[in-house]
Amino acid sequence: MLKREKKEKSIRTRMVGMVLLPILVLSLLIIFIGMALLYRLYTQSIRNELTATTNVVLDCLNLTVRGDYAYESGMLLKGDLNITDSTMLYRVQEKAQIDITIFWQDTRILSTVSNEYGVSAVGTRAAKEVIEAVLERGECYYSTNLDINGVPYIGYYMPIKNADGTIVGMIFAGKKTNMVYQGIKAVMLWFVGISAAASILAVIISSVYSNRMTSDINLINSFLKTISEGDLTVNLDKRIACRKDELGRIGEYASRMRTDLKKMIERDPLTSLYNRRSCNNRLRALENTQSEYTVVMCDIDWFKKINDTYGHDAGDYVLVTLSKLIGENVKGCGFASRWGGEEFLLVYQLAHDEAMQKVRLMQQSIREYDFTYEGKAIQVSMTFGVEAGNGSVPYERRISLADGNLYVGKNNGRDQIIDGRAV
Ligand code: GH3
Ligand code: MG
Ligand code: MG
Repeated sequence: MLKREKKEKSIRTRMVGMVLLPILVLSLLIIFIGMALLYRLYTQSIRNELTATTNVVLDCLNLTVRGDYAYESGMLLKGDLNITDSTMLYRVQEKAQIDITIFWQDTRILSTVSNEYGVSAVGTRAAKEVIEAVLERGECYYSTNLDINGVPYIGYYMPIKNADGTIVGMIFAGKKTNMVYQGIKAVMLWFVGISAAASILAVIISSVYSNRMTSDINLINSFLKTISEGDLTVNLDKRIACRKDELGRIGEYASRMRTDLKKMIERDPLTSLYNRRSCNNRLRALENTQSEYTVVMCDIDWFKKINDTYGHDAGDYVLVTLSKLIGENVKGCGFASRWGGEEFLLVYQLAHDEAMQKVRLMQQSIREYDFTYEGKAIQVSMTFGVEAGNGSVPYERRISLADGNLYVGKNNGRDQIIDGRAV
């Protein structure tokens, strides 16, 4: 018992795990992979932006002013023009939030970079790895981890060359790391928020669904348990019958099994009338309600002779046909059972007089019925013993009184009704 309970619990846990785990794993994967992709995309777009800015600034200088770069008496010259005080870099910084620096060799000559106290980076020098890459090897240099004037930067360096190809300096375009990460953080927060909300929704929907499924399994389970304990009056919850899936079908088969089992236990297989055992149960239940009822014991006359004359199958035909007539007769006012071989017990939930009327109708319908089997007409009659009794007479006693009345009828010549009150 303990083992079974343990198993039931594990099915529920497994169901929840089966549904929730994949959603959680998938959501985490989506969030992490999505965040990594977003980060790459964002930093890539910053790199492109910085590369384009250095190119644009250099092109502007080269196209508008002719001549080589030179540094004389503290002035950076482009051809004959002193560009040291150019405001162009500040315009770019203002519009695109990108800091620009122009180096003569490794020293910052023009720069929009300044630290938190407003101290300009002009006059300071480039880092060693930048000098090696740009000035010595003539390569462009990109880094997300720069420290300029004490401020963290993401930046891009490009060499500045004169007409003969000699490298005379560098141009730098960069964004403050803080600003970039703020942008990334905002995008990521939206992404994580939406992904988390979608995952929570999926978890809620799936757990509602799996809870419903588990509770339906439990309904079928308790239905089968009740049947296994011998109670065949139980009905399966209508919710299961409405399901159009495998659980609905399991429920349907379980219900059908209960109906067939009930029939097998309660009914006589040949005539489909109640058997003796279930008739006794019904009588006991009826007695508990204290309502009025009448019992009638009846038996087919000379049935052995019918069997001997027309064969056992003809005898069965008579039994089945008579049972149908009996069933119609008691319908709506009682029930009937095959008490033994060719003996039946009819129970009318009626008082004596109405029950007597019903018995007379029964006798009449047998007399009028044409029992023909395989072209041969069979003469059929029954003898009835009626016992209405009163409320204080227990059902077992009533049955034996009815049986006694039947015995009187048989001795009196058969095909008759013996009423206990008239004897
Ligand atoms: P009585 O009028 O005194 O009741 O005479 P009877 O011949 O009907 O009574 P008896 O007890 O002598 O015979 C009953 C016969 O019913 C004997 C038995 O073979 C037959 N019988 C019992 N059950 C069945 C059944 O299921 N099918 C058939 N065909 N015959 C059955
Ligand atoms: Mg008989
Ligand atoms: Mg008999």
